[in-house]
Formats: sequence, C-alpha cells, structure tokens
Amino acid sequence: MLRWSINLFRIFGIQLAVHVSFLLLIAYFGYEGWREEGVIGAGWSVLLVLAFFTCVVLHELGHSLTARRYGVHVPRILLMPIGGMAEFDRIPRQPRAEFLITIAGPAVNFALVLLLLPVIWHDLWSEEAVPLHGWENLLINLTAANAVMGTFNLLPVFPMDGGRIFRALLATKLDYLRATFWASIVGRGLALVFSGVAAFYFSNYLLAALFLFIFFAAENEYRHVRRVEEEAAYWAHWRAQVAFEQARRAENSDEPPAPPLIYHGPN
Ligand code: ZN
Repeated sequence: MLRWSINLFRIFGIQLAVHVSFLLLIAYFGYEGWREEGVIGAGWSVLLVLAFFTCVVLHELGHSLTARRYGVHVPRILLMPIGGMAEFDRIPRQPRAEFLITIAGPAVNFALVLLLLPVIWHDLWSEEAVPLHGWENLLINLTAANAVMGTFNLLPVFPMDGGRIFRALLATKLDYLRATFWASIVGRGLALVFSGVAAFYFSNYLLAALFLFIFFAAENEYRHVRRVEEEAAYWAHWRAQVAFEQARRAENSDEPPAPPLIYHGPN
C-alpha cells in the first residue's frame, strides 16, 4: 500500500513523496471550501492543507536531519492523509540518540508556534473578527495546528514520538527489548483508551481509527525488535559453535586449520 506514492522533489537529499490518497484529501478540502465560498474558498482551503503539510514535512525533517547526525540513512519522507513518515534504515539503540532524534520533531512544531505567535498576536486580541479567508486566518490556524501537532505527538503512545521518548528513558534502566516491551504495552493500552474516548465521547471516528492503527503499529514494532534480537542471538550462538569446533580440531590434529568460513547472516 505504501508503494502507491508519487515522488515530488528532494529536500536535503531526502526524497519527498506523497501517497495517492493525499490527493483525495486535497480534493476533499478543495470541495468543502468551494461549497462554502466558491473558487476563493477552495483556494484558501487547499492553501491551508498545503501549509499544514509543509509543517508536517518540517517536523519529519527535524527527526531526519537529527537522525543523519547519528549515521542513519533517510531515503524518503512520505506524506499520507494521517501525517508524515520518515523512513530510517535503522533506529539507533543508544537512548540518548533516540531521545534527541525523536524530540527534534515536536521541537520544530513548538519553534514554529513561537515564530508565528508574534505575527498573529494582534489578531488574537483584536475585537474585530478575522475574515474567514485570508492570511490572518491561515496563520492563526497554522499556529494552532502546530501547537496541537507538537503536543499530540508527545503522548506516550508508542510508536508515536512520546512513546519513543518513553522507550528511550526506559532503555537507560532496562535492556532494549524489555524497554520496547513495556513501552509497547503502555502504548497499546493508551491507544485503546484514546481510541474509545475519541469514538464514544467525541464521535471522532477518524481519530479513533488512527489510535487503532497505532495500537497495531506498537505490536508490530515490538515483534520486529524481538525478531532482530532472536536472530542476533542465533547467529552469535552459531559463530561461537564454529569457533569452538575449529579450535578443537586445530588442537586434536596436525592438519592445517580449515580456511575460515563465511557465514551469511546479520552482522
Ligand atoms: Zn514525529
């Protein structure tokens, strides 16, 4: 499903791509704006979506550029209607690195809020109503969106940013797999609670579905970490076996030692 995407351009050497469903989102907002105020409404509505997703890209760039400082390769940032996703070839296991990479995303949103606040300050306190379509309204919406994006992502629901920060904190005390286990248990529990609250209390089914998606993502990521650990343990066991066997043979015979074996496995 993630293959259904369109490459746009490269930014800092990272390919920016949009999922095809993103185009539907733009069409939907354009249509809603058009129903309210014709072409002008459609234009402002689409502009707001594009400005919002520019902030999503900046959030992902915060993660990506920090990750690159730790040697992580970031081939692509993909935009979907539910948000952005930076693709990393690996996630560093040092808690400090994971913490900094993760916090960099929401930090970009809060920096944008601080940048935009002085611009909209006058409109916030003005007695006059801000016109529905115009720069003032767009910037007010964008400031609010960044405040929400930064805060929402800090919820400790693994694998959202807050959950990753929680795992990084746990990993300073526990081993990586245990830390992931507890972060994913807490994340799954909270994802279910938030999903229920969104559906039954706010009747926001899109948000409820998003939390269900996060519930399964938490489970997937824990399983992935567990599999990587098991494979590493398996290959470490075999390397030890082979080394032991070669040492034993070398001791017991006058034959020249066998050439070293090359094993195909994760290193
Ligand atoms: Zn993030």
